[in-house]
Amino acid sequence: MNLPLHMVRPHDRRAFLYTIGLIASAAATKGALFGSARRVPYFDAYPFQLGVASGDPDHESVVLWTRLAPDPLQGGGMPLEPVEVRWRICADEGMQREVRKGTVIARPEWAHSVHVEASGLQPDRWYWYQFKVGNEVSPVGRTRTTPLPNSTPDQLRFAFVSCQHYESGLYTAYEHMLREAPDLVVHLGDYIYEGKTGDSQIRKHSSLECISLDDYRNRHALYKTDPALQAMHAGAPWLLTWDDHEFDNNCAGDISEELHVAPQPFLKRRALAYKAYYEHMPLRASSMPRGPHMNLYRRVPYGRLADFWVLDTRQYRSDQPCDDGNKPPCEAVFSADGTLLGREQRDWLMKGMDRTHAKWNVLAQQVMMGRVDRKVGPEIAYSMDQWPGYEAERRQLLKYFAAKRAQNPVVIAGDIHTNWANELGPDYDDLRGAVVATEFVGTSLSSGGNGVAAPKDLDKLHSENPSVKFHNAERGYVSCTVTPKQWRSDFRTVEYVTRPGAPINTRASFIVEDGRPGLQRA
Ligand code: FE
Ligand code: CA
Repeated sequence: MNLPLHMVRPHDRRAFLYTIGLIASAAATKGALFGSARRVPYFDAYPFQLGVASGDPDHESVVLWTRLAPDPLQGGGMPLEPVEVRWRICADEGMQREVRKGTVIARPEWAHSVHVEASGLQPDRWYWYQFKVGNEVSPVGRTRTTPLPNSTPDQLRFAFVSCQHYESGLYTAYEHMLREAPDLVVHLGDYIYEGKTGDSQIRKHSSLECISLDDYRNRHALYKTDPALQAMHAGAPWLLTWDDHEFDNNCAGDISEELHVAPQPFLKRRALAYKAYYEHMPLRASSMPRGPHMNLYRRVPYGRLADFWVLDTRQYRSDQPCDDGNKPPCEAVFSADGTLLGREQRDWLMKGMDRTHAKWNVLAQQVMMGRVDRKVGPEIAYSMDQWPGYEAERRQLLKYFAAKRAQNPVVIAGDIHTNWANELGPDYDDLRGAVVATEFVGTSLSSGGNGVAAPKDLDKLHSENPSVKFHNAERGYVSCTVTPKQWRSDFRTVEYVTRPGAPINTRASFIVEDGRPGLQRA
């Protein structure tokens, strides 16, 4: 099933009210301002078919994103020249009380994407924004700044999500998320899948595996044409990090899962994937890629209530040990050279957590930290693509949590298309030690198609892994409500993803109390 294009309509084109003076001065001074004349392009089709997005908010600014793409699935359809885009941000939904405005150049070398860092905003409040090019206006997006750095807000409501394979399911869960009106959406990776089109899927990638820059751009554009995804982007600011499929399945640093691929061509391809990723996400200029490198790890504070430590466990990791897969731990698992974070990111994280006063420290990252035995019976098998494949670094981090230099560590993860609530401790998996942190792993939004509430051998999984307090294999996302006294996670699941209109359920809810790591059923 292919969704029709042109589904996205601006809420109200008349809402984009320019003063006569602004039109006149822009027309008269455009050449003088930017050094070369830029004609206003005529568009055969609506140029904002990919919608709008915002992200990486702080207490006085936020990134506003769009990309001009009248022909989004075939390279974008823009002329190979820079185009001036106007933007404005307002204090009201009706776009009457303008707070800031400006112009930005959409450049062909960046696929006519724009990333505006709108600043001078008030802390802890909603804003509405819109773009205009020529006579065309974008949909109106809603975004929010974070509270002042030294304030302690009463509450933060955010949702986290991952793994939105386009072919295997509809994004109905985003429709439910939008109704919850979260302050923030955190995406933990697999925003796109790079693979070729598959059989018996409900909608199609319609292309081969992504290799070229155009491939990755068209794939991002295809995903962004989904109306539910667009609406959620237009409904709240997002914090994003990637996992493997934004580039290549199970990649580890410069090492491909395919043995015949050498590091150099692999890094060349990574540069293209990272560039297309940046072009399509509301990221700050500090994340602009340089060749095959792109800085995605960052701290995003929400007043003193929470620090989001957004991590990148793909770009700097060492190769999966023991030939990847679910394996009994071989010697390499315990090697001090094994790393998911890389030394620089790990030092940054631990030094940063030493200094923070945040009540909750959220590790927003890709892969499960819980050491879960995935093999039924006396044999043991851990996932070598996740933290248990990198046990030395995993224990280093858990021992750091045990030292309590940062308050209330909570790990959030995605990647494995299933829900998990886990208790974490350096020795907790064999029940000798204390719980020092709590982990919530969110299921996929759509990847894997319709799920099941109780996966096979669920009882055995629980009896062999007492640190796992909940496991489920439906599709959905996790909603979190965070106050100074407690953290609450609701596992939200949809009943199906292969046809529209799925209702939503809350499959389980857990509370973590301030100062008391571990899970309590809500
Ligand atoms: Fe995935
Ligand atoms: Ca076992």
